[in-house]
Amino acid sequence: MPLTLQTLQDHLKTWKGCELAKTSNPVLGEGNPKAEILFIGEAPGEQEDKLGRPFVGPAGKFLDELLESIGLKRTDVYISNVVKYRPPQNRDPTPEEKEQCMPWLELEIALIKPKVIVPLGRHALGHFFPTISISDAHGKAQKLNSTITVFPIYHPAAALHNGGLRQALFDDFRALKEFLDGGQQLTVNS
Ligand code: URA
Repeated sequence: MPLTLQTLQDHLKTWKGCELAKTSNPVLGEGNPKAEILFIGEAPGEQEDKLGRPFVGPAGKFLDELLESIGLKRTDVYISNVVKYRPPQNRDPTPEEKEQCMPWLELEIALIKPKVIVPLGRHALGHFFPTISISDAHGKAQKLNSTITVFPIYHPAAALHNGGLRQALFDDFRALKEFLDGGQQLTVNS
């Protein structure tokens, strides 16, 4: 049977490779399987755990607004997370949990083959560039390899706690749009 996003979803439901699977429900990514842009968050929260879908709580509502601000809909892109289960009380995922869940994200990337990956926040950025901070990297395109560019942006939830970041997120989405339209130069990461 060929591996597809649907079979991946089915496999994840029976996976016990992460301790978090004992206390929460699996949440794989969702969206356009042929998307050119892949957004990656940190881990599901309460609403995501309940509904089994990524970014459907308050941070997701803000993400929808940000997408809309540059003329995109959820169905145009693919949205996923580094960790596929909700950490208790929405604590940060541990390095071990991120490591355990990594193959799922790698398989999603391999199946979707996006041209642009947008890590939302430091956990997703760390998956690609472990030594770069989100405050330095946000809003700038970084070449990952010959086919993928990474365009880091703050996590939308950060703006829900710190109103000052709200405008920075809209500005970064506008910069993303400029990049997608061919306007922004690549920063080559050495
Ligand atoms: N925050 C995330 O990082 N992911 C979600 O799916 C929801 C909130």
